[in-house]
Amino acid sequence: MPQTVDLGPKLQVFRCPQCNEVINLSAERCRFCNTSIDPLKAQAAAELHHQVNQAIDSASYLRILAGTMVVFYIGGFLPIVGTPAGIGFFFLMLTVPIQIIRFWRKHLGIHTSDPGMKEAQRNMVMAMVIRVVMMVVFVIVRVFFAAAMTIMRA
Ligand SMILES: [Zn+2]
Repeated sequence: MPQTVDLGPKLQVFRCPQCNEVINLSAERCRFCNTSIDPLKAQAAAELHHQVNQAIDSASYLRILAGTMVVFYIGGFLPIVGTPAGIGFFFLMLTVPIQIIRFWRKHLGIHTSDPGMKEAQRNMVMAMVIRVVMMVVFVIVRVFFAAAMTIMRA
C-alpha cells in the first residue's frame, strides 16, 4: 500500500495529464494509459480537480437559484403564497448577480481541460440569462399593469 496524506475524498483524485481520465492520487502510474505520475504534479492536479469540482457545484447551485427565481416570480401572482414568494423573488434578484460575480472572481483563473468546467460555465451563463430575462419580464409586466390601471381609471 502506498502511503498518502488524507486530504479528503475530493483531493484524492485528479485527471491524468496524458489521457485526462480521473485517477487516484496514490497511483504511481495511470491505470488507463500507464503514464508514470509525478507526485508533485499529481498533488497540484488534485488541487485543481478539487477547485473544478467546487466550480461545478456552485454553478449548478446558482442555476437552481435562478430557476427558483422564476418559480417565486410566478408564485408572486398567486393568493396566500404571493407575498412570501414576492419577497423571495426580490431577494434572489439581488443574490443571483452577487453570486455570479463571486463565481467569476473565484473560478475565472481555472485553466483546465476538464469537461465539467464547460458544463459549469454553461450553467453560469444560463443563470445570467434567466436573471436578465426575469428583469425584462418584471419591468414589462409592471409597465403593462400600470398602463392598464391608468386606462381603467380614465
Ligand atoms: Zn492516463
